[in-house]
Amino acid sequence: MHAWGGSTRKQRLPRTWSHLRSQVMRRDAYTCQINGPDCVRVATDVDHIQRGDLHELDNLQAACKPCHARKSAREGVQGRARRAALRLRPAERHPGLTGEH
Ligand SMILES: [Zn+2]
Repeated sequence: MHAWGGSTRKQRLPRTWSHLRSQVMRRDAYTCQINGPDCVRVATDVDHIQRGDLHELDNLQAACKPCHARKSAREGVQGRARRAALRLRPAERHPGLTGEH
């Protein structure tokens, strides 16, 4: 058993991740770049700007825990919300049809 615990997320990261991560942190001065409502501004995480497996400096930014968690949760919800919106499209109204002659 590993002390750091294992997530599938970690296993997908490249071997250069720790190096990349420190480059992003230094570039962003260990300051959260998302700066959301609960932001603590001290970055402890590195966030992927575009969701996915593009592990490049251009797609990475420093993020604090609350912002990172919030962004990840929102990205998870967006796919479901989009599908739900397609089902729940409101019926169109035709205000011209009043039935009067
Ligand atoms: Zn933040």
